[in-house]
Amino acid sequence: MSALEENLSKAKAYMAKFAETGVMNHIGGESVPAKSGKVFETTSPVDGKVLASVAKGDESDIDAAVAAAKEAFKTWSKMPGKERKAILIKVAEGIEARAEEIAFTECMDTGQALRFMSKAAIRGAANFRFFADQAPTAEDGLALRNPNQMNVTSRRPIGPIGVITPWNTPFMLSTWKIAPALAAGCTVVHKPAEFSPMTAKLLVEIAEEAGLPKGVLNLVNGFGEDAGKALTEHKDIKAIAFVGESRTGSLIMKQGADTLKRFHLELGGKNPVIVFDDADMERAVDAAAFMIYSLNGERCTSSSRVLVQENIYEEFTNKLADVASRIKVGHPLDPETVVGPLIHPEHETKVLSYFDKAKASGATIAAGGEKVGEEGCFVRPTLFTNASNDMDIAQEEIFGPVLTAIPFKDDEEALKLANDVQYGLAAYLWTNDLNRAMYMTDNLEAGMMWVNSENVRHLPSPFGGVKASGIGRDGGDWSFDFYMETVNVSFPRQYHKVPKLGG
Ligand code: NAD
Repeated sequence: MSALEENLSKAKAYMAKFAETGVMNHIGGESVPAKSGKVFETTSPVDGKVLASVAKGDESDIDAAVAAAKEAFKTWSKMPGKERKAILIKVAEGIEARAEEIAFTECMDTGQALRFMSKAAIRGAANFRFFADQAPTAEDGLALRNPNQMNVTSRRPIGPIGVITPWNTPFMLSTWKIAPALAAGCTVVHKPAEFSPMTAKLLVEIAEEAGLPKGVLNLVNGFGEDAGKALTEHKDIKAIAFVGESRTGSLIMKQGADTLKRFHLELGGKNPVIVFDDADMERAVDAAAFMIYSLNGERCTSSSRVLVQENIYEEFTNKLADVASRIKVGHPLDPETVVGPLIHPEHETKVLSYFDKAKASGATIAAGGEKVGEEGCFVRPTLFTNASNDMDIAQEEIFGPVLTAIPFKDDEEALKLANDVQYGLAAYLWTNDLNRAMYMTDNLEAGMMWVNSENVRHLPSPFGGVKASGIGRDGGDWSFDFYMETVNVSFPRQYHKVPKLGG
């Protein structure tokens, strides 16, 4: 039996329960169908076949889930942080114990290659451990004194949270939002993406098996325009943590405006890798390729534009084209696969449309630029050269294994090109000149920058974008600031005269 056949048979066993019962909602500790009885289908990006039916939740399911979260908030928010920590560490252990099941399910549901997904579950567990460790001190604040007053700040959990996630690396992204919310003492209603609902159900099961009280984490599947919208409009949901497209983020703010919610929005990107002629070229080529061709390029921090100094542009892009043409496209469960199928035929159509746009705008397809095979959503890793920054392929988020290479002359032109997009999530800079690195990072419009590196996350550091890439920061204590309210209590330090009104 080949490694792929072996993995396929394991995946089938792991997913048998979903094929049988469907992906249910999970409300107040119970696995339940949608109240309307309606379902939709989740399909395999490998061959388009139905993987499972999914509960099609709507406003009534959201109402029930929010009611459960509101009830559970009364006790979960008051539980000492040390006890919440102990439960969340058990959740991390539960994730680790079922890491293979999570990885295989994620591969089949999203098309992401196993070589990357096997780490995603472990990273999800790391998120739980990291935020669990902060739970006991999350309420701590500051003492702010002046001669007359002692002001004492502290934080308290804001209330039930709505978490809305996209279809790319859904398990990891869900834990990134849900773990700090739970550690802070909030309860959660999670609405996962309709294209990849399976691992969210595994997460809530694992969490409850680990001892998370019923109703603390609830799950409602369904479409954005009904279940998602109802969650953003619900009066008892105090904040929305959203990851997805920029235009959806803007819709969500409008929907939540009447109930005055707090929003954290992690949105799209068109992130530049800027390569100067003094950089280590081999490493820069590998990092640029990794950041666009790993995770199928369906990654918010993917390096979808590479800006290369003009005197090394040809050599650099030749090397990149060579790497792209050698990358294995294949079944997500094949251990050799780097690029698996894109999530869904709708998304594949979008990605393929940029091959036509590139040709029409006069860019060169230096690698890829075509669909692979007739079945499934397989696309070859692609590199566009001879491109300029005003082309759609340089301005729009393609969200696939598709890279646009643009030459620049000097620091100023590199900055101008890098910043001349609506987005500002991440930027990657390759140079061995420290002064240049300081100047560039001072002036790049991006929430996160890496110098001489691909994206390597450090959980205590802030994560988030500027411009159309988002509002707010996650990571470390920034997450707690979002999921908690800071309150201030003022004490007089000495007897003071209270103003007397009325004579
Ligand atoms: P999307 O915006 O289409 O959907 C995301 C989620 O929002 C889904 O669960 C969807 O059902 C829901 N939704 C849609 N309309 C809604 C509405 N009106 N009200 C409430 N919820 C609604 O995004 P997608 O296509 O699933 O994901 C890809 C996008 O996510 C890309 O733009 C990518 O850059 C972005 N992303 C950003 C980050 C980041 O950290 N900045 C991380 C991952 C993905």
